[in-house]
Amino acid sequence: MSSASAAPQKYQLFIDGQFVDSESGKTFKTPNPATGDTLAEVAEADKADIDKAVGAARRAFEGKWSKLSARDRGRLLYKLSQLIEQHSADLAALETADNGKPIKESLYVDLPQVVENFEYFAGWATKIEGETIPVPGKMFNYTLREPIGVCGQIIPWNFPLLMAAWKLAPALAAGNTVVLKPAEQTPVGAMELAKLIQEAGFPEGVVNIVPGYGETAGAALASHPGIDKIAFTGSTEVGKLIAKSAADNLTKVSLELGGKAPNIVFADSDIEQAVAGAMMGIFYNQGQVCCAGSRLFVEESVKDEFLGKLSDKAGKIAVGDPMNKSTQMGPQVSEEQLNRIKGYVDIAREEGATVVAGGATPQLEGAFQKGYFFSPTIFAEVKNSMRVAQEEIFGPVVSVISFKDEDDLIKQANDTIYGLSAGIWTKDITRAHRFAKEIKAGVIWINTYNMFNAASPFGGYKQSGYGREMGRHALDLYTQVKSVWVDLSGRPIGWFGK
Ligand code: NAP
Ligand code: MG
Repeated sequence: MSSASAAPQKYQLFIDGQFVDSESGKTFKTPNPATGDTLAEVAEADKADIDKAVGAARRAFEGKWSKLSARDRGRLLYKLSQLIEQHSADLAALETADNGKPIKESLYVDLPQVVENFEYFAGWATKIEGETIPVPGKMFNYTLREPIGVCGQIIPWNFPLLMAAWKLAPALAAGNTVVLKPAEQTPVGAMELAKLIQEAGFPEGVVNIVPGYGETAGAALASHPGIDKIAFTGSTEVGKLIAKSAADNLTKVSLELGGKAPNIVFADSDIEQAVAGAMMGIFYNQGQVCCAGSRLFVEESVKDEFLGKLSDKAGKIAVGDPMNKSTQMGPQVSEEQLNRIKGYVDIAREEGATVVAGGATPQLEGAFQKGYFFSPTIFAEVKNSMRVAQEEIFGPVVSVISFKDEDDLIKQANDTIYGLSAGIWTKDITRAHRFAKEIKAGVIWINTYNMFNAASPFGGYKQSGYGREMGRHALDLYTQVKSVWVDLSGRPIGWFGK
């Protein structure tokens, strides 16, 4: 395992159990977003490499992988989870170097959840069952739950290893083979994972990992006639492209897309708890979270008190070297994302919102001056119709909207194209559950935020996507049902035999 502080690492593609250069010989560089220095040079996959990887995945699916028992599949997944756990410290350091997230998060949140997901789905491999159906007459009808086949998987850069785990673990548990494309900004974790997949002893071709650009490698994968399913996590915009190209081959699709979650604070909530929850909702992972609580609805009567406490705390967040264990926020993933966020600060001002905290890049020293850092930012006086309340900013930027009336609040909270998640802070349990029912979103957090578990489903309503990852529901994305009819009468059927 390589160290995060060493000279730039080189990574090849992982195809058919081997590490290989790309057919074109091209490579690309991935920077460390904290300094802008090159972290690694990575082979760049394109259409020809995708063809090779899909071919390898097909041979594995029809060959060794389908002959392996469910128990052996589970054991391989479990072995992989153990290898990841053993290498957690190194993997976390590389994840932080590649993505910029604080080491505290990589080490104590991302990596444990990666391990948990492989472990959880390892257990499922032997528990994917069909059913017997009580059909009338002398007939026996049962179902087989079978893998879909070769799965293309395209993941984003915000939780590079965890997104790989969410995709790979259920697909493999169910007996599929995979071609995975990591995001160009963060290919390192997936390539380190490839080494452990090889070490765990997965048959060649079961998992292929092909870093490259979205417009080339990603598009070639999504539109490939040789894949049976495409799973995508990323922007709603690209999600629509994926759905369109999948339509040409009627490839099965699951999409986990953007969000603009309402995080709702009632006057009767524990304000300290709600302030901490609002911070966790928007500043965690530099705000680069699809379920971030980016629309913060605060009841008018406590707005001033709440906003005062929130801006005070936001101003004290330790932004800086992500490798430092006391750092709470590192850099944004890329210069492009940083500029996008700055653009939204201008938009907010033009729209008439006020910037009550942050709004600019922090003053850092030394090498970090070239990093892609942005200060925790709060926009007040926001209306739900403004662009900063409707568009996914994907940064440490929260739009505060005040409300007085509960019915109107529900309308506003649901007035978005997205529906991934929502948070509610109140001591009134009737109201809390009423909201859980009324809000159109796939995940609801009551007096908490950003809670995840491998056993609990995650996914979106509306334009936040289709399908649920994690939990038993994820297996629905990676299996198909076959209905088998057997005659038990031994007699000719119908009138043709008479
Ligand atoms: P993105 O373009 O949607 O990237 C997600 C993945 O899709 C990456 O692996 C990307 O590859 C790939 N991709 C891009 N274009 C593709 C295409 N035409 N066909 C197939 N695959 C393609 O997201 P982004 O540009 O990195 O970020 C832009 C915005 O997306 C963010 O500001 C945020 O609003 C949103 N986002 C949401 C999530 C989420 O979890 N919901 C995650 C990340 C970003 P490349 O990286 O090589 O282009
Ligand atoms: Mg990087």
